[in-house]
Amino acid sequence: MKPSTRFIVAACLVALFIAGCASQGPYLRLDPSLQKDVRVFEGTQYIPLIPLCDAYGLRWDWDPFMNTAAIERKGKIVLRAGSDVILVNGVEKRLDRPVLVTGSVVYVPLSLVRNGLNAIVETAPRYASQGQTYAPAQVAAPSGKYTIETIVLDAGHGGKDPGAISRRFRIKEKDQALYVARQLKKALEARGIRVIMTRSDDTFISLPGRVDIANRSDADLFVSIHLNSSRSRSLTGFECYYLSEATDDNSRALEAFENASLKLEEGTAVGENSKGLGTTLWDMKLTENRHESMELASHICRAVDRSFLTRNRGTKTARFYVLKGTRMPSVLVEVGYLSNRLEELKLKDQKYLDKAVDALVRGIEAYKSEYERTEGFTL
Ligand SMILES: [Zn+2]
Repeated sequence: MKPSTRFIVAACLVALFIAGCASQGPYLRLDPSLQKDVRVFEGTQYIPLIPLCDAYGLRWDWDPFMNTAAIERKGKIVLRAGSDVILVNGVEKRLDRPVLVTGSVVYVPLSLVRNGLNAIVETAPRYASQGQTYAPAQVAAPSGKYTIETIVLDAGHGGKDPGAISRRFRIKEKDQALYVARQLKKALEARGIRVIMTRSDDTFISLPGRVDIANRSDADLFVSIHLNSSRSRSLTGFECYYLSEATDDNSRALEAFENASLKLEEGTAVGENSKGLGTTLWDMKLTENRHESMELASHICRAVDRSFLTRNRGTKTARFYVLKGTRMPSVLVEVGYLSNRLEELKLKDQKYLDKAVDALVRGIEAYKSEYERTEGFTL
């Protein structure tokens, strides 16, 4: 067989394979430019993830800690190296073979094209109204579904859990966090956003309790408000965290401190929320909102930066319990360091906290408008 004939036969086989597998509903044709990339591992045809994303105009995000990738356009697929389980718009599906990584290239079985890709490239079942076929050419008009309508505000600590306490004025983290959350609630409501508080007064709410309130609220965002403290008293500034592996010692120490409230709970089984879910699936669920959480964190940090309020220490990653359990884009802000003498003075002052609230509102608004304008950060 001449090389060109061989190529045509191979291309036909690929086309037949895809067509044969897609007997139900709309299916996606393998983009012709990808045929040269198809490789066979143990009898299964695979395609490298990045050229696949390029060909279909998908945005991709690889989380090296969890070995998961999120790919998206009009919907989202989460997949994990070594696993055949994928999440398509939050729904669990299976590929015929697991995702492979060889020589730092991620390969997905071609069955992904029919098993999920059509859902995020040509149709968006989660967002399209029933019976309506999604037409990519008409994406310009906003569907109205990509909106931020409800936000859960979570004032950290409370009741028997004071959080951090400053040295000189004995300011309690729980009080200042509640003040910030209340002011933020007013400001967001004035802008037409529905706000749900995990606590509105000085009561103790367990971390699982907070997660529960958020997950039952059908909210679009979750923002947890805290004030920081460190043994190193020179540290100052604002931080905004989203969920991923803690990347430095400070984050790890803070993670332990903020999660410590779990020990204060009575009669609550302190366990992973992953009960009943396989670890793989759970990690994928976490990856699902990672990009949005990261965007929200950076919008908030940018707003703080512009406010010249305090040093912006930037976006950071940690595994806070409340971020891990909530099934929506979520961030945790540390407004400032109670352990620093000068910052303690600032954080004591409600006028200063009001300015911090202004910056938070601007950050959330900037995220909201970008999310709505781009219909969920799609291309
Ligand atoms: Zn805290």
